[in-house]
Amino acid sequence: MKIGILSRNANLYSTKRLVEACIQRGHEVEVIDTLSCYMNITANKPKIHYKGRILNEFDAIIPRIGSDITFYGTSVVRQFEMMNVYTLNKSIAITRSRDKLRSMQILAGHNVNLPITGFASSPDDIEDLIKMVGGAPLVIKLLEGTQGLGVVLAETSKAAQSVLHAFMELKANILVQEYVKESNGADIRCFVIDNKVVASIKRQAKEGEFRSNLHRGGTASFIKITPEEEKIAIASAKVLGLNVAGVDILRSNKGPAVLEVNSSPGLEGIETISKKDIATLIVKYIEKEASKQNKKSKNN
Ligand code: ADP
Repeated sequence: MKIGILSRNANLYSTKRLVEACIQRGHEVEVIDTLSCYMNITANKPKIHYKGRILNEFDAIIPRIGSDITFYGTSVVRQFEMMNVYTLNKSIAITRSRDKLRSMQILAGHNVNLPITGFASSPDDIEDLIKMVGGAPLVIKLLEGTQGLGVVLAETSKAAQSVLHAFMELKANILVQEYVKESNGADIRCFVIDNKVVASIKRQAKEGEFRSNLHRGGTASFIKITPEEEKIAIASAKVLGLNVAGVDILRSNKGPAVLEVNSSPGLEGIETISKKDIATLIVKYIEKEASKQNKKSKNN
């Protein structure tokens, strides 16, 4: 097969590993810089132009869309879909998971347990909003934030009120969430491929920090997840329509609670800790699925 990896940077660990795995499995592979793709969306035969040529030779695309280019990146993925090229995660599923609020509404609608979460725009009802999520301490999140930036722990109701006021004045989109103290600064990243958890790691925040993001100094270690955690991770990927996903879970007193579902989960931490070749598992999955889709589109 000829596999394209949509990625802005061929030197990223995940991109490099996927390239290696494709080659090892005997495929041709090319890293395509997402932002260098351009397209004529009105042409009756959809095409993608790239650095002066037309990309029409790909059998499958692996989208690795950074959160800073979700809008453009998903439109490129969508264009490949219009060309009947198999894409590992569909553009609609990536868009769903990228919008924290939208994904949480979908997850909640499918009875996936989440920390109690509120969303509001007007500063008039801040007190009630705080009460709604169980009072302080609570977590306030900027909807556009990633890597733990824009996630604040407000220890007291007063602190929560002033942070919420400030963010709302700035017209920032925020959500307010129950603080799951009992998770003790740890969360679990479950890597899901094709309705199976293929690896999971625990991320632990550094001393004095509640955010476990590796970018915030957190450390990762191996963890064996419970059947309940496995079930919720698989269900989360499934209801969002993601074939490959990183599902972040907190261990709460009310059972596992899903924090976030990532549609371009990084491979470095999970491969290093689990010692599993996740990149190859992804490529094997593509082999199975892309040939199914290609057969179908030939028959049509
Ligand atoms: P980001 O998408 O920026 O990583 P997250 O919502 O995943 O933001 O939050 C970052 C980290 O903060 C999480 O990995 C987790 O360790 C911690 N955290 C987030 N929300 C809560 C919460 N409600 N209760 C306890 N810890 C939380």
